[in-house]
Amino acid sequence: MLNNTGPRIDHDTRVYWAGLGEGRLLIARCQACRTWIHPPKGCCPSCWSNEIDHEEPSGAATLFSYLAPRNRGRGIPAIIGWVELVEQDRLLIVAPVVLDSETPPRLGEPLELFWSKKDGAKGPMFKGRCET
Ligand SMILES: [Zn+2]
Repeated sequence: MLNNTGPRIDHDTRVYWAGLGEGRLLIARCQACRTWIHPPKGCCPSCWSNEIDHEEPSGAATLFSYLAPRNRGRGIPAIIGWVELVEQDRLLIVAPVVLDSETPPRLGEPLELFWSKKDGAKGPMFKGRCET
C-alpha cells in the first residue's frame, strides 16, 4: 500500500531525517566550496561537487516569510515559518515558529532553534531570539 503521508526519504535526504529523529538539525554542506544545501542534494548546485557532508548550523535564524493559520487555537500561538538560517543567504527551512504573543511577527525577526519536549511535537521549532 502506498503511504503518501510521510516525508519522502531518499539517498539525499536520509541523513537529514535521521538527524531530526535524534534531535539534531543536520544540513547538507558541500565540502569543496562550503555551500550549505537545503533541501539536501547529492550534488552541489554551486560547484557541482558531489563531496557532500552534513553539519549542524548554529540554530540562529531570521524569519523570512510565514503562513499564519486563521484558527491557531488556544495555547501557544504558532505559525509556519520559512526560516532563514544565518549561515547563508536563502538557506531556508520550513518549521513551526512559536510566538510570544498574538502580535503579528515581523519579517527579519531574529529566531533561535529549539526542540519541543512535548509528546507528539517532533522536529525543529523556532522562537524569538534576543539580540545582543
Ligand atoms: Zn560546492
